[in-house]
Amino acid sequence: MEVDSLFFDSFPSSETNQITGLANVTLDKLGSKLDCVVAFTGEATLPCDRCLADVTLAISFEERLVVQLGETTNTEDDIWTLGSECHELDISQPVFEWIHLHLPLRRLHESLEDCDPDVAEYLSGSSEKPSETSGSSGSGGTDENDGIDPRWNALKDLK
Ligand SMILES: [Zn+2]
Repeated sequence: MEVDSLFFDSFPSSETNQITGLANVTLDKLGSKLDCVVAFTGEATLPCDRCLADVTLAISFEERLVVQLGETTNTEDDIWTLGSECHELDISQPVFEWIHLHLPLRRLHESLEDCDPDVAEYLSGSSEKPSETSGSSGSGGTDENDGIDPRWNALKDLK
């Protein structure tokens, strides 16, 4: 099963349609049930948290769905039931949800050099302590937790 922007057109609520990949579906009989294992590998293009330019990140996961045959179709539970009127197993909805579940939380270019040069320059120029984790300057709240404990600096000198 191929995942591309066409796939995401059927899900208007998607955060991004810049996801491509291949979902490999394996069906295993598990007694009276079907064990449907979906292995996905692909990549997502999302705005970088630091410079907002596109960054492409790899996604891969393996999820499973158990399907049983029954009287009426029910795809709301953890175990799907396929009624007799159902002749096709459409797993695009769970695949869609899994992909979003596995989207990386931190979307950053690997290094500052890979970021949008204008933003990188701005960030490195304006910040006294360039840090990987601080995405935006001027965030509200106190700096208490952001400041580096001076003891750490002392430890850094120990080798
Ligand atoms: Zn970036």
